[in-house]
Amino acid sequence: MDDLLIIGGGPAGIMAAITAAGRGKKVTLIDKNPALGKKILVSGNGKCNISNSDMSLARYAGDKNFLKTVFSCFDNKTLMEFFEKRGVILKTEGFGRVLPITESSATIIDCLLEELVFNKVTVKNGEQVLSLAAKKNSFTIKTGRNVYEARKVLVAAGSCAYPQLGSNNSGYELAGKLGHSVIPLRPAIVPIELFGDWFHKLQGVRVEAELIICGKEEKKTYSGELLFTKYGISGPVTLDASLFIIDSLKNNAEVFINFLPFYREKASAAWDFRPEKPVPAFLSGFVPKKIALNLLPVLGVEISTKCKELNRKERERIINAFSKWPVRIKGSRPYSEAMAAAGGVATAEINAQTMESKKVPGLYFAGEIIDITGESGGYNMQFAFSSGFVAGISV
Ligand SMILES: Cc1cc2nc3c(=O)[nH]c(=O)nc-3n(C[C@H](O)[C@H](O)[C@H](O)COP(=O)(O)OP(=O)(O)OC[C@H]3O[C@@H](n4cnc5c(N)ncnc54)[C@H](O)[C@@H]3O)c2cc1C
Repeated sequence: MDDLLIIGGGPAGIMAAITAAGRGKKVTLIDKNPALGKKILVSGNGKCNISNSDMSLARYAGDKNFLKTVFSCFDNKTLMEFFEKRGVILKTEGFGRVLPITESSATIIDCLLEELVFNKVTVKNGEQVLSLAAKKNSFTIKTGRNVYEARKVLVAAGSCAYPQLGSNNSGYELAGKLGHSVIPLRPAIVPIELFGDWFHKLQGVRVEAELIICGKEEKKTYSGELLFTKYGISGPVTLDASLFIIDSLKNNAEVFINFLPFYREKASAAWDFRPEKPVPAFLSGFVPKKIALNLLPVLGVEISTKCKELNRKERERIINAFSKWPVRIKGSRPYSEAMAAAGGVATAEINAQTMESKKVPGLYFAGEIIDITGESGGYNMQFAFSSGFVAGISV
């Protein structure tokens, strides 16, 4: 009988396996995919963004005390030490993103697979766990091919996001059948669909902008690059804001784009320098010209209008509109375009110091299956590694 059977070979399951096996436990790791760590391979566009130098808890949705406890045991520095000790050199790029110096996710996966072999973890690929039953001091786990017995079980089956990499709801279902509550799931780190047609002609345009979400109780502003698509908006700032936008929708939140996050004052001051300039040419000094050309008609301003033809009030109206452009949210793109799923196994039912279930002794959870979701930038991978380590060491 195994000391620990782990369902799911993503960063959470692999880290738990290495940690527990490294301390003498007999560990089996089962994954339905033919190879482990599929999401590690695609993360950060294949460069593998495993963590972030700024571990502010504001970057996460979910129980902050739970996160604090997990990170007090294993944080971003511990993760970096873990890899660097094993010869994987990391670097920190823009926005604090931590990745291997090789900029290749294969470096991370190879290191983890070597550690599994070194620590004698039994790996079973291509087997989906179909049922999990708790007995008095052990568990019976059935896959399509085998029946396993283990003293303890860790469910690290990830989320239902990005099903093209094999993700599904099975982890939540296994947890639910053992009495765990699953907080409603929503796509996160996902592009957003808009109502209207003003953005269609902007498809492919990138702009440094702010997304301002005025919720019923909370107003939040996200900054970064915004990309227009044929259905709405994407790009880093949208992906980061997406969960808050989706969650605020039910409270009729208002969402605005600020196209002039840095230049509003300078823009306002420069109108008279070349009074003969057409307004779109003037505006293109601080926003992409396509945006100026397409949004001015929405404001009822002809694109041939010259700067000198607008009085102070009209100029102010344009600058105000570009600083607070209202967008009507239709919803998110589907899970097939979501890098994560929010919701999952309720943190109130898991002991953050051990990751053990408060309902079923010997049952553990780690990673994205738990109701914790980070923004893009390495936060989800870090939580998966951290919670996997806590589970592994507790076992
Ligand atoms: C395209 C993309 C890009 C991303 N980029 C980043 C990034 O740059 N930085 C970042 O931090 N995060 C990124 N993420 C998110 C990150 O990859 C995940 O949050 C992280 O992998 C979650 O780790 P996990 O171990 O909890 O789950 P997963 O990595 O999803 O692993 C779960 C494993 O469980 C297996 N499994 C599920 N059910 C069963 C079952 N019943 N039986 C057997 N096996 C099962 C699955 O096959 C899977 O291999 C990205 C995600 C995607 C989709």
